[in-house]
Amino acid sequence: MSMYEKLADAMFPGIKHTPEHFENIYPPRQLKEGARVTRIAPSPTGYLHLGVLFTAMVNRITAKSTGGIFYFRLEDTDKKREVEGGAEDILKGLNDFGVIPDEGFVAPGKTVGDYGPYQQSQRAEIYQTYAKSLVLQGLAYPCFCSEEDRQAARENQEKLKVRTGYYGEFAVCRNLSPEQAIEKIQQGHPFVVRLRSPGSEENRIVFDDVIKGKIEMPENDEDIVLLKSDGIPTYHFAHAVDDHLMRTTHVIRGDEWISSVPKHLQLFKVLGFKPPKYAHVSPIMKEDEGGKRKLSKRKDPEAAVHYYAEQGYPADSVMEYLMTIANSDYEEWRRRNPQAPRGEFAFNLKKMSVSGALFDINKLNDVSKTVIGAMDAQTVTQSVLNWAREYDAEFYGLLSRDENYALGIFSIDRGGDKPRKDIAKWSDAPAYASYFFDETFKIEDDLPDNINPGDAVQIIDEYSKVYNPDEDKQQWFNTMKSVCPKLGFCPEVKEYKKNPQGYKGHVGDVSTVIRLAVTGRRNSPDLCSIMKLLGKERVLERLKNYKRELAK
Ligand code: GLU
Repeated sequence: MSMYEKLADAMFPGIKHTPEHFENIYPPRQLKEGARVTRIAPSPTGYLHLGVLFTAMVNRITAKSTGGIFYFRLEDTDKKREVEGGAEDILKGLNDFGVIPDEGFVAPGKTVGDYGPYQQSQRAEIYQTYAKSLVLQGLAYPCFCSEEDRQAARENQEKLKVRTGYYGEFAVCRNLSPEQAIEKIQQGHPFVVRLRSPGSEENRIVFDDVIKGKIEMPENDEDIVLLKSDGIPTYHFAHAVDDHLMRTTHVIRGDEWISSVPKHLQLFKVLGFKPPKYAHVSPIMKEDEGGKRKLSKRKDPEAAVHYYAEQGYPADSVMEYLMTIANSDYEEWRRRNPQAPRGEFAFNLKKMSVSGALFDINKLNDVSKTVIGAMDAQTVTQSVLNWAREYDAEFYGLLSRDENYALGIFSIDRGGDKPRKDIAKWSDAPAYASYFFDETFKIEDDLPDNINPGDAVQIIDEYSKVYNPDEDKQQWFNTMKSVCPKLGFCPEVKEYKKNPQGYKGHVGDVSTVIRLAVTGRRNSPDLCSIMKLLGKERVLERLKNYKRELAK
């Protein structure tokens, strides 16, 4: 038995398998040429950052558009960061936005697929098997340095004004002979497992990032930790082993990992794995005091995905918006294909922003107004009710009193070629619908400048005499016109424009007064429909009340 074999056995007494065993269990996937395998690999912190949703969406669409697989792997090796139920929360968040994995954890409590376990804490034997094989080849070794040793070494390096880290002459344990190391293990000294880096800082590596293009960096020369003293891997080592065995073709992840690529490529090399393609996604940025910064978990409520549920943005709106950030030609495509499923868009990783797209809530609102504008009344009503049940008890109380009436509210001006775009999110609904309920109705706007209260009173008087709730839209408008002449208003707008001095105003001003009385606003959806829904009694009551107010 060679000394390396003895060392490997001392370090991993429980490991019986070889890497071949796992290579056989997880063979290359049988997918069609060009199919991409991607993944999202969050830690179970429970907090779904908009950036993670975005990255997951990009991963999913990359896989789906090539007939590949998108899977979810749970990176739960850092117990300090773990939150109870955190994995479920993240998965639920992704599911809520339709970013549903094909494999791995697909829904809370549900895993599918042949490449598992998809939870790193259950893969210790696999990582240790690969680490052991590196030790056998002299490519990894145990390091017995304590935290204090490491701290002292860092201080020494700072004093010497050299790069801190465990490399070259500073990698003290790399020079222990296998015999010395075995002796320390037998004495019960705890150890971590380090890579014996074959790299040199003098050398440079070049790789092609699918999003960022060609990147050149110094080779890794650090003897990085592969397994911590409890046998749990570091992110770097787990990434190499998992993405190899799960047969990931494209690692699409946040660009905070770019600086680690030299380590990762080196690990793939020493392990004998074919490296994946890397695509590093720039963070979503926010404008701040004239500059740009990352959307921050601490400062920006919109960084957390639950913000969108609370505000009542439909999941579809958020996804549509994120697509416009992902590929700038998405909007143009959407304009030409208003009904097409998002998956039909020719998404391209190469077209993603290199510097980080700006998050723009106004843009999200615009996108969302279009999405909501295209929904049918039933969907809108149910969505508003669901949102209000959770987030606005008072409005829920009003709206759920009569679901037909609620449906009536959201049916107005819906379904035509040019739907109104009043609502960007369900939390806009209470204000949008306030005048449909006596409890929340109030006069919000003033009379237009060209109409004095005396005229307004006369308009209400005359209109009240002829108002007929059974009229259809055309008849309703004709009735509105019919009161104009005797009040000095012009029934035809065109006519009025030719001779504005000849009138107090036109039929539009007359209907504005009625609109103000009935809705409290100068602008509203179709007034005839509103009045029908409110009903005769309520309309007459409001006309009377407004008149009284004007007379004050
Ligand atoms: N667990 C890592 C993170 O949450 C995953 C990074 C990756 O996608 O490789 O940042």
